Order: sequence, then C-alpha cells, then structure tokens
Amino acid sequence: MKSEETSMPKEPRPLQYFLDAAGVSTVTLAADNKMLTCDCAAFKKNSTCKHLTWVNTRVDDKGIYPIQVSKRASKDEMDAAFGKGGEHYRSFMLKYGRVEVLN
Ligand SMILES: [Zn+2]
Repeated sequence: MKSEETSMPKEPRPLQYFLDAAGVSTVTLAADNKMLTCDCAAFKKNSTCKHLTWVNTRVDDKGIYPIQVSKRASKDEMDAAFGKGGEHYRSFMLKYGRVEVLN
C-alpha cells in the first residue's frame, strides 16, 4: 500500500491572482513557506507592492493565507491540488482561484 501524501510538497505556490490596470499579477509563497513574492513591476523595484500588502492583511495569526477558490471546485479536485501540488495545484488555481480586482 502506498502511503498517503498528507502535506503539500515543498515548492513555490501561487496564492492569489490580481487584476488591475497593469494586467495580471501573482503573489507566490516560496517553497520554505516564509517568503511572499509578487511578479509585478513595483515588487521587482521595491520588494513590496500593493498586492503583497493586500495578501499580508489577510494572513491569519497562524501565518496562513485563506486561499479563496470557486464553489464549483469539487472535493476531488481540491484533494488533488492540495495533496499532490505541482501542476495539479497550479492548474486548479488557474481554473478556480479567485482573481481580486484592485484599482
Ligand atoms: Zn505586486
């Protein structure tokens, strides 16, 4: 019998997508679960940005960001995304992850 994967693999994970005048930006959690990065121009220049600030205000006191996904996602799909990670997780987030619109 194969043992079940109980925690997600250690790899960078997109947490939240944003849409604004500059286009789509993605806030990503680093593989060590400690660093948040964003792929927007402001972050590359200043190491911080409005997207990161937005995510940080929603991180709970355990340091966990409540990922928001569509109710259309089935339990099987969620289990695969959060259990297997990698491509399962990325395609799940692209399909069901909520895109926040910032002005
Ligand atoms: Zn950003």
